[in-house]
Amino acid sequence: MDKKTRVERITPLLTGWYRENARALPWRENPSPYRIWISEIMLQQTRIEAVKPYFDRFLTALPDVRALAEASEETVLKLWEGLGYYSRARNLQKAARLCMEQYGGELPRSYRELLELPGIGNYTAGAIASIAWGERVPAVDGNVLRVLARLCANGEDITKQPVKRAAEQLLLETLPEEKPGDFNEGIMELGETVCLPNGAPLCMLCPLREYCLAFEQGNTEEYPVKAAKKPRRIEERTVFLIEIGRRVAIRKRPDTGLLAGLYELPAMEGHLSAEEVDHWLQSQQASALSVEPLKKAKHIFSHVEWHMVGYRVRLEKELAGDWIYVPREEVREVYPLPTALKAYAEYWNS
Ligand code: SF4
Repeated sequence: MDKKTRVERITPLLTGWYRENARALPWRENPSPYRIWISEIMLQQTRIEAVKPYFDRFLTALPDVRALAEASEETVLKLWEGLGYYSRARNLQKAARLCMEQYGGELPRSYRELLELPGIGNYTAGAIASIAWGERVPAVDGNVLRVLARLCANGEDITKQPVKRAAEQLLLETLPEEKPGDFNEGIMELGETVCLPNGAPLCMLCPLREYCLAFEQGNTEEYPVKAAKKPRRIEERTVFLIEIGRRVAIRKRPDTGLLAGLYELPAMEGHLSAEEVDHWLQSQQASALSVEPLKKAKHIFSHVEWHMVGYRVRLEKELAGDWIYVPREEVREVYPLPTALKAYAEYWNS
């Protein structure tokens, strides 16, 4: 059986299964285009359970395109704080502003126009267009690639763009006319709940078993094939909690690059010893009332790891430079800090 026939055969089974087994998720209640969009962007790189509270909070504060477009960048980043990949939040806002200018405060109603918005690629455009508007377009993410690789016992590397494009083309040819969004949601749902990653599919619960080539061959653990990732670069850093009374030093990061637009704490490359910290403070003409070492912390980004040591430094007067000094409580409530620095910012809760 060729791939196209195989996918055509599973289509009614999958959509039927999805309609009976779809999990109740906040964005599936009242699935407006705006809610689908926000959820899809949040769910990129983040688990469903982690997204739920963020989604509720975000939608309460910014319930529609206009509210998102008119909010300050700091408000949006603060609502995103902890989700990571902050360019997603900034792109959401840029796209909302474009929607205000060009589409009367609504999301555009076609896959092609959605693709023109910042932060919206093939997958997200496909998800919004098919679920919200019923457009017959695929939405191929890692779940979909995994299910298709096992279903067709396809040993091609799913991290390669041509393999993804071929999957999109295959689905474009086979998607049902009626409710294509149910097919797209169904195959993702199957990947998240049954055809699980890391060699652990729950085949005995799977509605596609009868047509699954990897199941038939008894080698589901061989799929999908993925090239090994490059090891992450390790960066050693020393982070400072600089305090003057209850005010603390922070600074806005540049508008581009890692953690763009978020606030940061003073930091230096390398792991500084207490003696090196003293030298640095002297070079800044800063007289410290106290210097206290803090615990080590580690944060993993997609391509780099920060291995951090920290010091809490109480000063009499401000350091030179563009640091701003704000009350600790304001850092918590107003200024978006990256999760990478949470282990240190938490000291200010005590
Ligand atoms: Fe995945 Fe198993 Fe279903 Fe095949 S039968 S699609 S491997 S869960």
